Amino acid sequence: MATFKDFRNNVKPNWCPGCGDFSVQAAIQRAAANVGVVPEELAVVSGIGCSGRISGYINSYGLHGIHGRSLPIAQGVKMANREMTVIASGGDGDGFAIGMGHTVHAIRRNIDVTYIVMDNQIYGLTKGQTSPRSAMGFKTKSTPAGSIETSLNVMELALTAGATFVAQSFSSDLKELTSLIEKGIEHKGFSLINVFSPCVTFNKINTYDWFKENLVSLGTIEDYNPNNRMSAMNTLMEYNGLVTGLIYQDTEKKSYEDMVHGFKEEGLSKQNIELEHDQFEDL
Ligand code: SF4
Ligand code: MG
Repeated sequence: MATFKDFRNNVKPNWCPGCGDFSVQAAIQRAAANVGVVPEELAVVSGIGCSGRISGYINSYGLHGIHGRSLPIAQGVKMANREMTVIASGGDGDGFAIGMGHTVHAIRRNIDVTYIVMDNQIYGLTKGQTSPRSAMGFKTKSTPAGSIETSLNVMELALTAGATFVAQSFSSDLKELTSLIEKGIEHKGFSLINVFSPCVTFNKINTYDWFKENLVSLGTIEDYNPNNRMSAMNTLMEYNGLVTGLIYQDTEKKSYEDMVHGFKEEGLSKQNIELEHDQFEDL
C-alpha cells in the first residue's frame, strides 16, 4: 500500500511561491494513495502551461506533452493499458482554448480518464494574457482595455456535452479537492474536475481572497442532488458557475472501454478490436 510520500520525487517545482498548483499536486498524490493506487499503476499526462509541469513533479508514469493535447495522449494510454489509472491535467488555456475540441469529445466519449484543470483565468506561463475563462472586462497585456469576450462556462458546457462526472474545487481546500479527485478516479468514465488555482503573479483580480468571498459550496445548498442533471444546470446558472463540490455524476452510463468489444479484460495493446452492432443493443 502506497502513501502520498511514495508519489513524491526529487524534482523541485519551479512554480511561484503561493501558486495554487502546489495544492493540486499534493491533492493528486494524496488521492492516488487513498484509493490504493501505487506509482507503477498511475500515469499523469499534461499539456503546456505552468500547470503542465505537474506531470514531472509526481512519482508515476508521466508525459509532458504539447499544448492542448493532454487528452488524446491520456486516452491512448488508457486504451493501451486499461489497468492504468490515468490522469490528464493542464490549465484553462490548455484545456478550454486550444484543447477544447479534445475536451468536448473526451467528455462525450466517456473514457475512464480523470481530467484535472488548474483554472487561474489567465495564461501564466506566457506572463499574463486573457484566457477563455477570464471575465469580461478583465485587463491583461493582451486586453489592455479589458476583455470584450464572455467567459466560457465550462461546467455548463460539460453537462450539455454528456458528462458523467463534473466537479469543481478550490486549491485552498485540500481536503475537498483530494476527496473529489478520489471520486473522479473511482468513477467509471470520464471525470472533469475544474480547480480554481490562483495565479498569484499575474492575476490580481481572482485572488485567494476573491475566491473565498465568491465561491459557494454545494454542501451549503439544502437538498442539492448531484444525480440530477437539470438541477445541476440550474444551480450553475444561478451561481454563475462559482460553486464547489460534486456538481453532477451519472453512474449508469457505460464507459467507452466497456463498450468496445474485446476490451473487457485487457488493453488494446493485447487485443484485436472488433466493433459489433449488437454490443449497443443493451445500452
Ligand atoms: Fe503559478 Fe502564475 Fe507563477 Fe505560473 S505564473 S507558476 S500560474 S503563480
Ligand atoms: Mg491558465
